[in-house]
Amino acid sequence: MSQYYKPNRKPDWNYGGPKWRLSRSKIALFLECARCFYIDNKLGVARPPGFPFNLNSAVDALLKKEFDVHRAGATAHPLMKQYGINAVPFVHKDINTWRENFKGIECQHAPTGFTISGALDDVWVNKKGELIVVDYKATSKDEKIEALDKDWHLGYKRQMEIYQWLLRQNGHTVSDTGYFVYANASKDKEAFDATLEFEVTLVPYTGNADWIEKTLLDIKKCLQSDAVPNKAPDCDYCNYREVVGKALLATQPKVEKAVLARKKHPKNNVEKTTGQLF
Ligand code: SF4
Repeated sequence: MSQYYKPNRKPDWNYGGPKWRLSRSKIALFLECARCFYIDNKLGVARPPGFPFNLNSAVDALLKKEFDVHRAGATAHPLMKQYGINAVPFVHKDINTWRENFKGIECQHAPTGFTISGALDDVWVNKKGELIVVDYKATSKDEKIEALDKDWHLGYKRQMEIYQWLLRQNGHTVSDTGYFVYANASKDKEAFDATLEFEVTLVPYTGNADWIEKTLLDIKKCLQSDAVPNKAPDCDYCNYREVVGKALLATQPKVEKAVLARKKHPKNNVEKTTGQLF
């Protein structure tokens, strides 16, 4: 089995278990497909993760180091000056925990009883004492990145809104405007020469966290139900699973019959024959 995929995790990590928390990425999964969210959090079988983006992680780590130098000196990063932002990186005793994957900043949400968490990239503070959520992104696009204007940017916007909401739940005053620090690698060079060149831009976004409370209540309702939600339309994962299942069944007419028979007589034990297929 791949070192990245552990399908049968301990029930402690499922909804109702002592280690279960609702992370920012789980909220994103619920909004993408309630069925996958339910199978993951309630039934304990997660979708295989994507392969780790090590180059993006390297850019994140280096940007963090760079901003940490200015945090220690209480100075503005040149990018802040370039964009006229009167702020400095925020100093807080928990900043490293807030930025750590699988820890992050968390809050207890009384209406649902959930512990909600998210690991953010950075926080700045302006002259009014308002916190500014900052997220680092690394990519390689031909055009200069100055706006979040694509449909798929919705996930990034929600990500920022959840971080703003989490900071507010922890009693902080937070600016509605956050920033994406975009590092865009250029492909417009003669050769690689063991060097990537990045254009770094700052993209502002004004968050609106009004959707979060209702979504949390919807998640609670979903998790408390015994009904598995419907699948999302046009999902390549489910379509693949269905097509593969049908293709394999077509090669095994006896098994197909056994599955059909099981539907009629659920007590029949056909796991032994179907196990090899799914
Ligand atoms: S449609 Fe299926 S695979 Fe796709 S996200 Fe939903 S449950 Fe998961």
